[in-house]
Amino acid sequence: MIPYDFDYYLPDTWQEAVDIYHTLKADAKNPLYYGGGTEIISMARVGSVRPNAVIDIKKIPECQSFGTDGTKLFFGAALTLATIRESGLYPLLSLATGRIADHTIQCKLTLGGNLAGTIHYHEALLPLLLADATIHIANAQCIREVPICDVLNMNGKLTPGELILMVSLNKRYAAYPYAHIKKTKAEKIGYPLVSVAALNVGGTLRLAASALCSFPFRFKDCSFADARPAMDIVRELLADLPEPVLSDTEGSAAYRQFIFEKTAEKIITGFRNGGSHA
Ligand SMILES: Cc1cc2nc3c(=O)[nH]c(=O)nc-3n(C[C@H](O)[C@H](O)[C@H](O)COP(=O)(O)OP(=O)(O)OC[C@H]3O[C@@H](n4cnc5c(N)ncnc54)[C@H](O)[C@@H]3O)c2cc1C
Repeated sequence: MIPYDFDYYLPDTWQEAVDIYHTLKADAKNPLYYGGGTEIISMARVGSVRPNAVIDIKKIPECQSFGTDGTKLFFGAALTLATIRESGLYPLLSLATGRIADHTIQCKLTLGGNLAGTIHYHEALLPLLLADATIHIANAQCIREVPICDVLNMNGKLTPGELILMVSLNKRYAAYPYAHIKKTKAEKIGYPLVSVAALNVGGTLRLAASALCSFPFRFKDCSFADARPAMDIVRELLADLPEPVLSDTEGSAAYRQFIFEKTAEKIITGFRNGGSHA
């Protein structure tokens, strides 16, 4: 429950949603797009956000996109993580989303909320970065379709008022060997201590991590098909981090780095042995 009155909008189109947002902004209101509402409600409860209007995106057709046209896969921003997990359309995305919170909460959390929200893990982003996915974003003028790496990799953010409609990716990424390993501090379900997703694209390792730094990011691609020890490759990856390893109450930087090294080594060894998901 949000413990104060607020306006609720349920637009039928993205144009209507974006118009409402800008009209409310011009009236000095503080609107928020509303996916599953889990983050908005919990933050409004403790006063860390105070929206006086929410714009529910569930009726917008593009936000409910789901499936394939034969070449591409489409995932609308209003899809729940449970729907994506159960679909198996892009197995790496199913695996990563299936490890965010528990089943009951996954039935509420949306893809758009995970990508745009303030909780910095954004684990659903990792498989999308690896697949060179395209993000479809509506703003006041038009829909722009841009590589998700250009918008959300590292600490990328949307411009205020922009609405994520969907993400799309080439279907071939669903067929590559993949791996996802999530380590938490104590329980099976929880925020990640380190979360690593990987694709084996014909002997090239694509790897992305969440919680290793203060934002999720994709490493530079590298080959793992040579005879180098896996740990040498891991060290090469770590030499090119975008910022120092995160240290917080979930774990110290040294511990996180250790966990990452073991995790990445396991993934590389698994790929070399012809394995797929972890
Ligand atoms: C119990 C719990 C455990 C969690 N564990 C993890 C975890 O382990 N790993 C992890 O990565 N995350 C985790 N999260 C974070 C969670 O994935 C995100 O908070 C989340 O997905 C929010 O989804 P929502 O649909 O409820 O977002 P909402 O509350 O609806 O929105 C969150 C924010 O995103 C904005 N937004 C929503 N949709 C759009 C859109 N389409 N376009 C633009 N802006 C939009 C909203 O305006 C708001 O600012 C957890 C959350 C909870 C509640």
